[in-house]
Amino acid sequence: MDTRALEVSLLNAKSLCVFTGAGVSQESGIPTFRGENGLWKQFRAEDLATPEAFERNPQLVWEWYAWRRELIHNAQPNAAHRALAQIESALSMKSDGRFTLITQNVDGLHQRAGSQNIILLHGDIWVLRCSACDFQRRDESVPLHPLPPICPACRSLLRPGVVWFGEPLPSADWTDATHAAEAADVFLVIGTSALVYPAAHLPQLAKQHGAQLIEINPERTALSSLADLFIQGKAAEAFASIQIHIE
Ligand SMILES: [Zn+2]
Repeated sequence: MDTRALEVSLLNAKSLCVFTGAGVSQESGIPTFRGENGLWKQFRAEDLATPEAFERNPQLVWEWYAWRRELIHNAQPNAAHRALAQIESALSMKSDGRFTLITQNVDGLHQRAGSQNIILLHGDIWVLRCSACDFQRRDESVPLHPLPPICPACRSLLRPGVVWFGEPLPSADWTDATHAAEAADVFLVIGTSALVYPAAHLPQLAKQHGAQLIEINPERTALSSLADLFIQGKAAEAFASIQIHIE
């Protein structure tokens, strides 16, 4: 894997925007929850991560999230998570340096690795949010008790603080993400096929505004023909082979 060009781009970037997806967390042992490997009992993610499923059977949906929370709790950030946190601190030393991490992952592994300026496009699995009122809190306890959890303010059911299929992305986060993409001089896509709109719009937006577009994925994607630099491989391996200089 030749990562020299990546290293040069990262060193010279002033406004770096990184967009990550399930591929980054997969190398920490977190399943993608899509396709055969993502099956839990006999259910597909698409049958559990919806407002309708929660309305129909909150207990079942919460059991799935409790299982996922436990998997994540037992996993560790990998070389890619750690490298991104280091790149952020290196860039923050430059007077005009700017770093934004936009992630579709809900697992919190970027935060555990030390990333600071992060936009959680699909929410946070550790947040419990009331299904009726404005109450929410971050709760990393594993196992979660009681299940399903109840809102202390209004006694309604709490739900996971994530974006489900069929729900809009949080509008403030989306606005921040588009601004970061527009301002980027380097836009790095890692471990996501970036196929699902509206998120798929971000790399295109960055490119239109003059960013160098870099993609790291194990296989070519719909995005690859647009990319200025495509690195074929796993994210953790790509970052393990580059040197990050903190001056
Ligand atoms: Zn409530």
